[in-house]
Amino acid sequence: METKLIKIQDSEWIKDEELAEAARIIREGGLVAFPTETVYGLGANALNEDAARKIYAAKGRPSDNPLIAHISCMEELEPLVKEIPEAGRKLAEAYWPGPLTMVFPKSEIVPYGTTGGLDTVAVRMPSDPIAGRLIALSGVPIAAPSANTSGRPSPTTAQHVWQDMNGKIEMILDGGPVGIGVESTIVDVSGPVPVLLRPGAVTMEMLEAVAGQVEIDPAIQGPPREDLRPKAPGMKYRHYAPHGDLILVEGDLEAVVERINSLSREREEEGCRVGVICTEETRERYHYGEIRSVGQRAKEETIAHNLFAVLREFDDLGVDYIYSESFSRDHLGQAIMNRLTKAAGYHVIHV
Ligand code: AMP
Ligand code: MG
Repeated sequence: METKLIKIQDSEWIKDEELAEAARIIREGGLVAFPTETVYGLGANALNEDAARKIYAAKGRPSDNPLIAHISCMEELEPLVKEIPEAGRKLAEAYWPGPLTMVFPKSEIVPYGTTGGLDTVAVRMPSDPIAGRLIALSGVPIAAPSANTSGRPSPTTAQHVWQDMNGKIEMILDGGPVGIGVESTIVDVSGPVPVLLRPGAVTMEMLEAVAGQVEIDPAIQGPPREDLRPKAPGMKYRHYAPHGDLILVEGDLEAVVERINSLSREREEEGCRVGVICTEETRERYHYGEIRSVGQRAKEETIAHNLFAVLREFDDLGVDYIYSESFSRDHLGQAIMNRLTKAAGYHVIHV
């Protein structure tokens, strides 16, 4: 299949003609990758089981890992869900459109092919203007997981999507690099107390400020356990494993820098290729291996923004070992550390 790459000239002034063909492809059951404020999504008609099946095939994703349905306005939520619980209504008012996905009891019209066989449906209203306009023009909710091959880092540029999806989907809309860079926060509001299933840019602190008590699913905190059937089925899969061994070093920053330097020197002496994930504040203090700053500690959003691109770069370079600094687990740091610890297979050295 030939994949069309369409550059959107100005995402603040989108012309409907620019998105008309993409919307037609979605309506007719095809696949279009498009930018959102979190990461690039791989979109298909969420109400069409055959279209959803194509998403799983293009990504190589296990079909019991459910998809998020994307909507462009509140009216589009009602037909998809059995009810909108109070917490869901409040959170939608506060954070939609934005990087928050909520899990609701699903209505009859949402096929099990989209929800991975679950009786719940995950819904998000993205704030990216290209995403919003595409959904509205399509006239259907768009199921869209991240537009990467399953097991690779989520794509934050159209070039990342092209690397993984060229030849497998009808179209890629290029809206430039995304803003946030990590996937949406997921909260299950179908039970009596909201449960955080995946941390993201709408932080735990922000959720509690609006919804009161929020629980954290145990699967977020540590390695997947065989005996725990996770609420978010995606949590049982190793999210992304770089080709090289990723090891996080956590503790006092001085000691972290020292340990990473000594580990990377040892590995280089053994003839291995080493990558180091550091920050603007510490960059000058590393001396061995391929050194990449992921952003500024003082501005956590820069770290979220660059994280997946740096991990992709190390895959492309074919390094054998990656040593990474750690970050605080508060606010956006919870999402950053969640992605990093999963990518490291929970291999953390404490210093
Ligand atoms: P991605 O599309 O790659 O951002 O991943 C979507 C994730 O959303 C899945 O891996 C699931 O963990 C989660 N998800 C989607 N639908 C549901 C649902 N109905 N219940 C719980 N989690 C869900
Ligand atoms: Mg994904």
